[in-house]
Amino acid sequence: MVNATGTLQLVLQPRGSRKDKGEENFKHSIVRGIRLRDIAAELGPDLAALTALYPDGVGRFWGSTPTSQVNNYKARALRDRRVGDEVLFYAEKAFIARARILHLMHNPAAAKWIWGAAEDGQTWEHMVALGDIERLKRPIPAAPILHQLGLGVPLRSITLVGPAEYGALAPMLAEAGILPRRPASITTPPRTLNGKRLFKALERLADACRRDDEDPAARRLPLTVLWHIGQIAIAQGRPAEPPHPGSRLESILQQYGAEPSSDLRTSGLWEVVSRGELWEVDPSAFHAGRASGTRAVGEVSLTPAATALFGDSETRGRAVAVLSTALPDDIDRAKFLAEVGLAGYDSAAGVLDDEETVRPEPGDQGPARRRKVSIDRIIRSSAVAEKVKRLHRHRCQVCDIRLVTRRGFYSEAAHIRGLGRPHEGLDQIDNMLCLCPNHHVQFDGFAIFVDNDLVVRWTADGKKIGKLRLHAEHPIGRENLRHHRRFCGRAD
Ligand SMILES: [Zn+2]
Repeated sequence: MVNATGTLQLVLQPRGSRKDKGEENFKHSIVRGIRLRDIAAELGPDLAALTALYPDGVGRFWGSTPTSQVNNYKARALRDRRVGDEVLFYAEKAFIARARILHLMHNPAAAKWIWGAAEDGQTWEHMVALGDIERLKRPIPAAPILHQLGLGVPLRSITLVGPAEYGALAPMLAEAGILPRRPASITTPPRTLNGKRLFKALERLADACRRDDEDPAARRLPLTVLWHIGQIAIAQGRPAEPPHPGSRLESILQQYGAEPSSDLRTSGLWEVVSRGELWEVDPSAFHAGRASGTRAVGEVSLTPAATALFGDSETRGRAVAVLSTALPDDIDRAKFLAEVGLAGYDSAAGVLDDEETVRPEPGDQGPARRRKVSIDRIIRSSAVAEKVKRLHRHRCQVCDIRLVTRRGFYSEAAHIRGLGRPHEGLDQIDNMLCLCPNHHVQFDGFAIFVDNDLVVRWTADGKKIGKLRLHAEHPIGRENLRHHRRFCGRAD
């Protein structure tokens, strides 16, 4: 039986009195918060993590002075508190507010900037960055709770309550109105999630995974989220589609060498994940993973709001493009996407039914055998394709090159929005470009895109390659270009 608090701990945190500026500091650095750009220099290496945690640029901080003791309440709390733990603020014999730890840091420079220094020169250098502060509707008398823990009133020092004690205390805290009555969830309650917030969260995750690529979770998280997105695509697919073998998340992670650590919270990426509106984390998954010694997979899953947004295939396409930037280089992207139900998401052409996903043979660990053929090579000879090539006299609309062969000039007609899944584009002239083979490959692979002003750009950095050359009798469907851009990870 999993208790309500799982492996979470509780930090009891005295706010300090009016006399020692506790109330003032609480208002200053927690209620109002500190603008990160004001202390960017002091934050140093913590700045990146904090910027990811506080998208509005305002951080909420609390600090503790150092202690020379090694085993008192304070020393233990400063040493053993963790990201994800609950903090309960105490003032004047009552508990007044709660928050969750998002980030821990030791930073005397930032502490001095925020709170100055005490008379003895000490500063509050053992710092925590906190999530949204929840003020209790009324102050809750602290005595019964502290007595239960064998502590006296007033609470004199920051004190850590371990998982077992916290679990035992949970019913009492719920009764007192400090904890919600239903089991605490590790997720920040979702605000209204829209496409913009969705992609901000995805980009934050991809950035963090690229930055901390030594972290085992950096390999596991993009795979996990892509798997969840794939499940939505599969659910929307045709009923005739057979289920993919080995498509269970656990076997996918195993196959791609993503180390299942039993507790995601020990990862530096936890902060990015726990802050998400995009995913929810089930605390019982940690507990189960630990207690039974089995792997705790699937502890990150999409929120209902995110699931709804991913119901749109263009949104999925853009998400795949963003998350793919965080996939490790040794992973064959096309093969992986096919295995999780996202075949064709890495190609502007898409896949047709008769060139289904590449299925791994048992024991097949080698490089993927590419059976996927570009659809454009099949219909290159259609009448409308011939017309596009004729209009442009076989000159590439990007680079103007016209290839000469012994059999005459050579060019390729590329569908902007592929005919295969998931694009389902139309075989008509406003959905085509006349390209040289090089630019065709790059366009199909989403390495280049055409912006709304018909400028051709690199997907990687948005740099301009050139202007798309037009022909009066060859209209270009802007919606088709937009669709292609979405799958390049572009918003407009
Ligand atoms: Zn070209």
